Formats: sequence, C-alpha cells, structure tokens
Amino acid sequence: MTNITKATQNAAFAFETYSKLTATKRAEFLETIANNIEALGDELLNAANKETNLPLPRLTGERGRTCFQLRMFANMLRKGDYVDATIDTAVPDKTPPKPDIRQMLYPLGPVVVFGASNFPFAYSTAGGDTASALAAGCPVIVKAHPAHLQTSTIVAEAIQQAIKSNAIPEHTFQHITETDFSAGKALVQDENITAVGFTGSRTGGRALYDYASARKNPIPVFAEMGSVNPVVLLEGALTANAETIAKNYAGSITLGMGQFCTNPGILIGVKSDALNLFANHLANELNNVAVAPMLHEGIQSAYFKNSTHALSQTGITCLTKNTPAANAASPVLTSVDASVFLANPDLAEEVFGPYSILVQCDNDAQLVEVWKSIKGQISTTIMGTDNDLANNKNLLEIATSIAGRVLLNGVPTGVEVCDSMVHGGPYPASTDSRFTAVGVKAVKRWLRPISFQNWPDQLLPSYLQNKNELGIWRTINGEFTKSDVSL
Ligand code: NAP
Repeated sequence: MTNITKATQNAAFAFETYSKLTATKRAEFLETIANNIEALGDELLNAANKETNLPLPRLTGERGRTCFQLRMFANMLRKGDYVDATIDTAVPDKTPPKPDIRQMLYPLGPVVVFGASNFPFAYSTAGGDTASALAAGCPVIVKAHPAHLQTSTIVAEAIQQAIKSNAIPEHTFQHITETDFSAGKALVQDENITAVGFTGSRTGGRALYDYASARKNPIPVFAEMGSVNPVVLLEGALTANAETIAKNYAGSITLGMGQFCTNPGILIGVKSDALNLFANHLANELNNVAVAPMLHEGIQSAYFKNSTHALSQTGITCLTKNTPAANAASPVLTSVDASVFLANPDLAEEVFGPYSILVQCDNDAQLVEVWKSIKGQISTTIMGTDNDLANNKNLLEIATSIAGRVLLNGVPTGVEVCDSMVHGGPYPASTDSRFTAVGVKAVKRWLRPISFQNWPDQLLPSYLQNKNELGIWRTINGEFTKSDVSL
C-alpha cells in the first residue's frame, strides 16, 4: 500500500467520526488551530520569510488573515445557518398527497488541498480551503507546496496538536510532503477522495481537473487559476486624476512583486492625452520600484520567460526602463494598439509577476470589442467618473459576464475576507464559477444537499427537527424564520 493510499483510507475512516461531531466541537477545533498558529510566533514567520522571500510585515498580515479565517468559520459553525435547513411540511389532503420533505447540507467526504505558492499561510496548509473543508466536516489531506515545505510542516504540526488537545479523530488532517506530480495525481485519482481545492497555474489546475473528470467516479475540483484582472480606464476619470490613478495602480501592480491572482495585468483605454499622461506617470512610478526576488526559482524563471515572450511580440512597446531580469523581478509596463491585441491571443495571457500591458483603443466601439474579447477572470475593474459610468452602462454589463468580482474605482488587489466576497469566476479563472474560494460561502464547495422524506422527527438531524433547539434560521414552507415547525 502506498503512502497516498494509506492516507486516503485513513481520511475516509476519520470522516465517519469527524463528520458527526457537533458544530461546536468543530468550531473549538478551528479556534485551537488559530491559537496554536499564533503561539508559534517568530519561528513560523521566519521560516516563511526564508522560504518565500516575502517580507515579514506581509507575512505577519497573512498570518492574521489565516487565523481570522479559521475563527470566521468557527463563528459560522456556531451560528449553524450555513446548512441551509429547508422544511416543507406534509399536505396529506393534496392530490396526490404531498409528503414531509426536509433538506440540509452535508459534508462531501475527504478533501485534498494543494498549498498555494503565493500564500504560504492564507491559501496553504491551514488556509481558506483547509479551514472551510474542516468546518464543513470533511477531513483534509494537504499536498504541501514544494516552495515552502518547512513552513507547511510547522503549520501542520500546529494542526496535529489541535487534533490531540481537542480529541478530534487522528487522521482528520494529514500532510503530504512528496514533491512530485505523481503524488498529487494519485491523491486526486484516489477513490476515497471526494473533492479537491487548488490555487496555482492554469496548467496545474486544469491537469487536476482532468484527472478528477477521468475517474470512474468523477469528483469536483475547485481550482482557482490564472487571471489578468483587466481594468477599463475611462477618459473622465483619467482627465481628473491621471496621476493619482497611476500611483495607485503602480502600487497594485507591484504589490507582493505582482504575485497575486488579483494583479491588474491588462489596462484598457481609448487613446487620448489623458491616457498618455496616465501611461507616463505609471511608467515613472514603476521605474522607481526596487527590483526584488520572487517566491521561488520556478516563478522567477516563468516571469522572465513570459515577460520576455510578451515583449518580443510584434507591435509591443515597453514603456518602463526596466527589462526582465533572470534573477529578480523588475516591474514592466508595455503598450499595444487594440487591433494588435485583438489579433494576438498570447497578449491576453497572464504574466505572473509585476507586469501589465496597456491596450490603446482607437474609439469607444473598439474598447467594447476588446472588453468583450476578455475570457473569464477573478475580477474586472472600471475606473470612471459618475458621468463616465452613466454613459458606459454596457461596459458594466459586460464586466459582470467576465468576472466573479466587479470593482468600480479601486484596485483589484486586496481581497476582503467577508460574507459577500466572491473570489472566483468563469473559466479559465476557476473551474467552477458558482463558488467562491474566499469568505464564509467558500464552505459550500465541500457540502451537498440531502432531502429527508417522511422521517420521524426524532430521527432527523437536529437542524431539521420540529423544535428549533439550535435557534438557527430555516426556511419553513417558504418562510425564512427561527420559529419551530408548527404541525
Ligand atoms: P503550479 O505549478 O500550478 O503548482 C501548484 C501545485 O500543483 C504544486 O503542488 C504542484 O505539484 C501541483 N501540480 C501542478 N501541476 C500538476 C500536475 N500536472 N499533476 C499533479 N500536480 C500538479 O503553481 P506554482 O508552483 O504555484 O507556480 C507556477 C505558476 O503558477 C506561476 O508562475 C504562476 O504563473 C502561476 N500561479 C498563479 C497563481 C494565481 O493565483 N493566479 C498563483 C500561484 C501561481 P508539485 O508540488 O509536485 O510541484
């Protein structure tokens, strides 16, 4: 038996007990993980700093977000509403008689989570995918990202300690450190695994999705992949604020050396003096950003290769002084005519790192054409005055068809963790646009609805019994209420 088979069998065994624990018990477990991670102090931060080149302030913030997410899911469990309890009571004198049917969400089973290279805490070992799956009642097997194995191991130990101190079934969380595609592939293909969470490249996410679809019993893969987060810059906004917008965008393009899935990689505007002014300001700002090392060698060489490839395309002008370097990332801003952009699909591809391309359109009609040509994204942004927005409602409409999050007058980097956040979008941004990877609703990825028909009250899960002992919100005969069921 391989390590992978043993791990998945153990996870399936743990599921039998873990999925039946009370929500309060699971909430306490998540809170203990957060406490244990905080108690690690500098040991954890220094390990991540050494492995990822990410600065300590950024890592401190990310650790805070990770613990916040764990506690957010603990709160969700305590409230209990996440199970979407829905009750339709019987109508015996209807023809034919309507039975008593009650529905709620149940955990899927063991989940595999692939750690993300660009979020060593918040989207790795104890990150959002793990926290939401554990909250749902699903055991988790984390495939550690090879770029931060030590960091991942330290966090895994904090989770194992929480398992022991909270008397949680032993294999509710397991950590796989094999740095080989075959380990990830075997995990996704294993019959005991019921779903997969992934953040990374399109090639990687798509490969996992294809393995999962080719199984005898296909399973869902929630892969959050590349995105260029296109931005439309309308003339009124640029005329009023070219310099400020350029400053903000320089910050967004170079935040974390561009290693965010929400990095603004494509900027689009109609040719004008204001657009030229913006481009000059942005290039100047980017020229002043210090060159810095990227997360790992693979990402560094991919940035060098992809930005060099973009710059070698016909019709591309480089607006920054910086040129790609092999050993550190320098911010690069290029410019292209919309007609060239539309004719060359390579130019719309993600260059993961501090790279952005300015697409210059001849007129409004061409801007719409470019906007419509954009494939699925995590976010879209429109920068415009009230007047700009009122005169370009079609752009807003198109923006919602492209992305999971549509921003007006802001920068796409900086993803708030809250109930209303959508982090995902139509393919190729993610493999399932119906779900978010960030925020409390991320739990829905690991749950499936079950209907209970004609069950005696005492045998139903407590969420669905007549007396609402848990005091949760439920839908009873079409009405959203905290009342008991009156029969
Ligand atoms: P990656 O290459 O997609 O790898 C992420 C994880 O998936 C790794 O654990 C890797 O396995 C696994 N994996 C990838 N392909 C696989 C396959 N065919 N079969 C089985 N497992 C597979 O991502 P990365 O290492 O983080 O960075 C590479 C590139 O991804 C970056 O240059 C960037 O372009 C992109 N990226 C995008 C985002 C985003 O949010 N948009 C975030 C991070 C990275 P191993 O552990 O065995 O290597």
